[in-house]
Amino acid sequence: MNMKKNMNIKCTVSQCKNNLVTEDYCCLDCIHVGTHEADPTVPECVDCNSFVKRTDSALD
Ligand code: SF4
Repeated sequence: MNMKKNMNIKCTVSQCKNNLVTEDYCCLDCIHVGTHEADPTVPECVDCNSFVKRTDSALD
């Protein structure tokens, strides 16, 4: 897959298939951020809903 990093979205979630693992950037043009809490108060309350679990073992 030819992935192009988005300089505006830094991300270290290497388990996500949208992540350019070698440089800690997301490769999507846009991501969707949301929350699983009714009243979020700390960073742990919010999520990247564009996350897709990497299924292959190779980090390409
Ligand atoms: S989709 Fe979300 S979790 Fe996945 S690399 Fe992009 S910012 Fe990170």
